[in-house]
Amino acid sequence: MNIQEKVETYLGKPVAQASDREIYDSLLSLVQEMAAGKEHKDSKKKLYYISAEFLIGKLLSNNMINLGIYQEVKEMLEKNGKDICEIEEVEPEPSLGNGGLGRLAACFLDSIATLGLTGDGIGLNYHLGLFKQEFKDHLQKETPNPWIEEKSWLKKTDTVYPVQFRGLNVNARMYDIEVTGYNNLTNKLHLFDLDSVDDSIVEDGIDFDKEDIEKNLTLFLYPDDSDEQGRLLRIYQQYFMVSSGAQLILDECVAKGSNLYDLPDYAVIQINDTHPTMVIPEMIRLLIERGMEMDDAIDVVSRTCAYTNHTILAEALEKWPVYYLKKVVPQLMPIIEVLDDKVRRKYEDESVAIIDRNEMVHMAHIDIHYGFSVNGVAALHTEILKNSELNNFYRIYPEKFNNKTNGITFRRWLLHCNPRLAALLDETIGEGYKKDATELEKLLAYKDDDQILNRLLEIKHRNKEDLCAYLRETQGLEISADTIFDIQVKRLHEYKRQQLNALYIIDKYLEIKAGKIPAAPVTAIFGAKAAPAYVIAKDIIHLILCLQEIINNDPEVNKYLRVVMVENYNVTKAGKLIPACDISEQISLASKEASGTGNMKFMLNGAVTLGTEDGANVEIHGEVGDDNIFVFGASSDEVIEHYAKADYVAKDFYENNESIKAAVDFITGDEMLKVGCEENLTRLKNELINKDWFMTLLDFDSYKETKERALAAYADRRKWAQMTLVNIAKAGFFSSDRTIEEYNRDIWHLGEE
Ligand SMILES: *Cc1c(COP(=O)(O)O)cnc(C)c1O
Repeated sequence: MNIQEKVETYLGKPVAQASDREIYDSLLSLVQEMAAGKEHKDSKKKLYYISAEFLIGKLLSNNMINLGIYQEVKEMLEKNGKDICEIEEVEPEPSLGNGGLGRLAACFLDSIATLGLTGDGIGLNYHLGLFKQEFKDHLQKETPNPWIEEKSWLKKTDTVYPVQFRGLNVNARMYDIEVTGYNNLTNKLHLFDLDSVDDSIVEDGIDFDKEDIEKNLTLFLYPDDSDEQGRLLRIYQQYFMVSSGAQLILDECVAKGSNLYDLPDYAVIQINDTHPTMVIPEMIRLLIERGMEMDDAIDVVSRTCAYTNHTILAEALEKWPVYYLKKVVPQLMPIIEVLDDKVRRKYEDESVAIIDRNEMVHMAHIDIHYGFSVNGVAALHTEILKNSELNNFYRIYPEKFNNKTNGITFRRWLLHCNPRLAALLDETIGEGYKKDATELEKLLAYKDDDQILNRLLEIKHRNKEDLCAYLRETQGLEISADTIFDIQVKRLHEYKRQQLNALYIIDKYLEIKAGKIPAAPVTAIFGAKAAPAYVIAKDIIHLILCLQEIINNDPEVNKYLRVVMVENYNVTKAGKLIPACDISEQISLASKEASGTGNMKFMLNGAVTLGTEDGANVEIHGEVGDDNIFVFGASSDEVIEHYAKADYVAKDFYENNESIKAAVDFITGDEMLKVGCEENLTRLKNELINKDWFMTLLDFDSYKETKERALAAYADRRKWAQMTLVNIAKAGFFSSDRTIEEYNRDIWHLGEE
């Protein structure tokens, strides 16, 4: 049977007569059948990647690429008057993640399967995801993002585990999503859920009864935790995930012949950030229940678990009050107390204790003491962990610390999102780069080839035109592909400094108003969700939306400058924005961005980075050299020193720098107050002048000067194309295949038995 006949057996009618929805449904069935027919390799030892987030994005096209049928299906559809892009539109995007951390987990699953490693994901099946962002009155509004349809990638299984909370026993049901590797085996993503969860209890945006656990447990990822009920709900979710995950792991290992004392020969558990930390005490508890002595259980679990740290922001390192844990999972507290007691006896150092004097449980401390590996996610980040943030732990366990610089899967972030560039690469350097990303370096041989350089510029231009059409259709925005596309898309957070970019835009606006006309027109594009309870982040969104309104409607200015805020930034939108980018904004305060992965996606698609020496930007800089990146700002050492001495005073910059003062004052000036909300804008302005914890004003001059150089460099089209080419050619290091090979070589050791 050819592909058309196969699709038509599912359809029950000719492709040409079917609706997009019908075609989508039948392709989904076809892909599921093919994936299920693939090898599920089960080596003795298996990796379990446990994570609160898996930001998998839409799956249809990626699965078809991995199964090797994408091109065939695309052509078959064309022949029948159908467009694969329209079919893709039918699929809802699951928002099972927040940002980089969740997307990393998804890229890792793709690479694990592609490399032929046995490894499954374990997470939760949030019915309504994070939230869907809508803009109303220049403000972010949150609504639910239901994504589970009648026909979806989820397969309901008969696997059910009991999970016990204080005064409440529930049953966790496992759902599976097939994870296809590129030309290789498939693994599974296991998502646990509760049959009694009821989407209809959500009312008025994303509000719901936080105490009705049986109905709300898996409704949302990161439910609002600004009150105690919300924080308790997060503990319910975390324990539900790890308890069912731990039971699954033990069952699978026993089925393969483990006597549980040899568990580390059968399983390795990678704990993605601290949300799944309770898997450690829970696994110990379950082993004791199965007859093991406490000390043996602790030893076995410690040799099975490994921890990935994603942040050095103190407020993000989870701490839970003992009293919360006693309220929700009292069975874990005696174990956590033993874990704490052992540490206190051994090290007599309050700073490495698990339960502190204020009766708070430090989740990361459990991971570090009772896991065998601690990794950071970029070279600079790991150094900061070792030398400052976790130095007290590093001195105890130097052998546990290691670096695994993040990566991205090139199947999604090149082959799928940028088919034009992929086709050019196939033509010039062959297809080997799809399996061995370092082969991209072969492109360097074309650095002086005018024909290839022009093709690169042409591809970028056509991608920009596609984005223009998309933004016109989806948000009614008019922008021109003949402007420089300067893009900053990522979660909204003060440390990522969207506000710095916004201040630059205000400065530029004021310059144009004063008659200083820029050499080249620029379109500044943003996309970002703010956590619902993060007030200043939402104020920054408000600022950007007001600037969009003012600037795009000012005929004196909009010839040279436009502002775009993309609604509901997600994986699908990332796939449309990134291939169209000229300048990639990676402007976090140095030392604060653990790695970043957006920076890698942009580089791979031929954007030039404008960034601080932070996270993986440092390694991007190392790969491309000084001539193919624009670096600015205070160094991480300088920033760390400012914090240590507490000597950064934003107000001094505001008072002594005319451009800064004018830009900051503009936030509450007449033009802004005409379109914006005084309360939000005033709060934001005061924050910048009186606090500015992430040192926006410190880097303003350096940012402006460097950005002007980048914009000027764009004018030399040949030279710019060469920079683009070098960025693509040097992106190979950032393939998640490389990252996963390192995890396996240093931590997991799968397939070595
Ligand atoms: C890659 C990605 C991120 C991470 O971006 P950073 O710039 O590294 O913060 C966030 N959201 C989505 C949808 C992504 O695809």
